[in-house]
Amino acid sequence: MDQLFTSRSSLQSVLNALLDATAILDEVGTLVWVNSAFHDLFTSFADVIQLHVSQLIPGFDLPAIKETGEDTIALDGKGSFNLYLHPINDGGGFWMLQLRTLKPLQEAMETYNESLRIVTHDLRSPLTTISGFADMLLQPIHGQLTERQVYSVKKIIASVGQMTHIIDNLQDAGRFDLQTSFYVMHQEPIDLSDIVRRIVSSYITPPEKQSLIPQLHVHAPIPILDADSTMLERAIINLIDNAVKYTPDTGSIEIHLKQSDDAKHLILSVMDTGYGISEEDQKRIFERHVRLKRKEYRKIKGTGLGLFIVQNIMRQHGGQVKVQSQLDKGSTFSLYIPLTYRTTLT
Ligand code: ADP
Repeated sequence: MDQLFTSRSSLQSVLNALLDATAILDEVGTLVWVNSAFHDLFTSFADVIQLHVSQLIPGFDLPAIKETGEDTIALDGKGSFNLYLHPINDGGGFWMLQLRTLKPLQEAMETYNESLRIVTHDLRSPLTTISGFADMLLQPIHGQLTERQVYSVKKIIASVGQMTHIIDNLQDAGRFDLQTSFYVMHQEPIDLSDIVRRIVSSYITPPEKQSLIPQLHVHAPIPILDADSTMLERAIINLIDNAVKYTPDTGSIEIHLKQSDDAKHLILSVMDTGYGISEEDQKRIFERHVRLKRKEYRKIKGTGLGLFIVQNIMRQHGGQVKVQSQLDKGSTFSLYIPLTYRTTLT
């Protein structure tokens, strides 16, 4: 240790002042020195010096962490920590280990999620009221509307639908995120052709984009699938919504549902004749909050969460989402959902 610290007492005071729990390990992972924050974290041990780090942090994989330099761990009853391992170059094989608590971050996330939950909940009810009353206006019982008035009311209904979709995505980005998910997947045998038919028939295409009403083609046989229908519905709605948003009003949208040639997957494809996506951009559109810039997109609303949600949903099903696209020609987004449970239905 003396060769490690040339000015030992001053280095010890610096390390002691660190808020992170900090320890010095030798080459094989034995603790040779710890600061007071580290002591406070492991008070159940009378003395931690000369213990191996894996006795304090179960599963600590020293060779792996030496490679990456960091990891995230959960300690029983103490919460989660970011863990950093730095070599001490002139120390002859010594390493500095830092444990940084994620508690403030987790508490901030909980507060954020709770505020989001309240806001999204409180926004949803007035939106339901607006769309309910707008729907009523279209009923003949309330008097005949002019063509222009019908168009305006339909615009209101479609805009309310878009706002509801944004609220849904804000919620889904949290509940379906593989990293932070608290949503418990509910897999059961489902007939995806029924679900897609229902989604397409109730989908509200904005009145100025009537040529984009999705045309559904179900290619029998469609086997029963073991999947979470709520999640799949959200993934499909996101793909249809994007096809409508990113296709000019003269285009068209087709949806195909079929079994893969090797019968291992159901494939649901949403094809549009819209703006398309360059090869470069196709690599990043599934990341959280990525929205592509193009002058035609200036008025298009979105959060950049839709495809992130779709990808998370597919991963949780052991499936994949794939994109094929050409700029200014159109895009096809396909969901590959594994068939784990099969009985031919359609
Ligand atoms: P949002 O639509 O809310 O911006 P998404 O995550 O659903 O977020 O999509 C990310 C980006 O990918 C979009 O902003 C858009 O630029 C691009 N994109 C998605 N779907 C399509 C599509 N069908 N055609 C062209 N671009 C698309």
